[in-house]
Amino acid sequence: MENDYVSAVQLYAKRMTDAVERYVVPALPSRRGDDLGGQWERDGWYTALEQAFLDALAAATGSEESMRAVITLFADRVNAFNAGQFHKILRAAYGVDVFKSEPALGPISTVWEAENLRLIKSIPTQYVEGLQSKVVAAVQRGETVASLTKQVRESYDVPKKRAELIARDQIGKLNGQLTEYRQRNVGVDEYRWRGVLDARERDEHVGREGDKFRWDSPPADGNPGQPIRCRCWAEPVLPNLDDLDALIVH
Ligand SMILES: [Zn+2]
Repeated sequence: MENDYVSAVQLYAKRMTDAVERYVVPALPSRRGDDLGGQWERDGWYTALEQAFLDALAAATGSEESMRAVITLFADRVNAFNAGQFHKILRAAYGVDVFKSEPALGPISTVWEAENLRLIKSIPTQYVEGLQSKVVAAVQRGETVASLTKQVRESYDVPKKRAELIARDQIGKLNGQLTEYRQRNVGVDEYRWRGVLDARERDEHVGREGDKFRWDSPPADGNPGQPIRCRCWAEPVLPNLDDLDALIVH
């Protein structure tokens, strides 16, 4: 699911780099020794280049509707996954099914979806802004078209990587927020910190493995899943079944 979201967000990044290849690369100006002088300025290379970047951006950023639909689809999938995990844990612990209405689910998803839309939309604009400055500086240094083209193409990984970072981070954040909500909603006040315990996990988080925290008093960097790209999760410290604030179905 996380990888699927990475692929979906990376499509937007790829649309941007495809547009740069199509509009910007052919517009890269060449500055030769004999161009130095008035001719160079009169050629209006800067305006032409700027127009090429604007065209690329316009071509890459289509309608918001399809992006919204994809984001909503993944919010629903994360929610279904999270609910499944939660009920599995409760069934394993108590041997029963537990029901409780979840009125805050809508608002949690709405905020997450809006934030994701904002972040994903920022991928092409932020990338183009950085690339344009870089290209302008390289032209002013008198670099050849071949060198400019090479630099532009080497930048194609930048939005792709940012898309991956955003997608993984956001899936983790939503899953963490839903876990917190579901646990607290049935009266679970505490959890044990659990990590993936691989080489990528932060040392600080490895150090917390199995430690108990209160939901309302998280570590400085937040509850599991909230620090950037954190893949840790919260194992609920479950009260007695009678103390659970939910409808029990035997
Ligand atoms: Zn972590």
